[in-house]
Amino acid sequence: MFTLKIDDIPDDGITLSWKEEPLSLSAYLKSLSHIDFSFEESLQSEANLRKAGQIILVKGHIQTLLRLQCVRCLTDFLYPIRASFDLSLHPLKGILFSEEKELSGEEMELDFFEGGEIHLSEIACEQVFLEIPMKPLCMETCKGLCPVCGKNLNLSSCGCLHEEWNSPFSALQKLKLNH
Ligand SMILES: [Zn+2]
Ligand SMILES: [Zn+2]
Repeated sequence: MFTLKIDDIPDDGITLSWKEEPLSLSAYLKSLSHIDFSFEESLQSEANLRKAGQIILVKGHIQTLLRLQCVRCLTDFLYPIRASFDLSLHPLKGILFSEEKELSGEEMELDFFEGGEIHLSEIACEQVFLEIPMKPLCMETCKGLCPVCGKNLNLSSCGCLHEEWNSPFSALQKLKLNH
């Protein structure tokens, strides 16, 4: 994993670009996400780091290509990720030990660094994680699988009767009405 020592950041900042291979990424990301995915390409990252007093400003972007599975039709599809990020990393020590107090709500929102190092790989991975949809869909209008015969309804229709199958709430509503 790629890390940078705070002491190695020059006063006028530094711009780095690095690449990570899918294997090392998958293990880390799968601990964060319950979504099934794999990397089709390495993760390319670029970041500019600059000191602002105690704070480290990190601005950059990531680019990769994921393979996700559609939650409706269970088909794999490619999902390109291109995202920019802009973070202010605060020294964890300063905040935790300067005063004897719990983190305030505002402080909980902050990003931290610890031990005089910035873990650039982790930052890049977290950005990928933020870009993975909670419910991946191959397309907005995906018709999903027939709950009766299991056919992929995007490819062909089937003869089954499946009234309102695509609305998970309709069954619930009916239940409520009957009571
Ligand atoms: Zn689908
Ligand atoms: Zn069917």
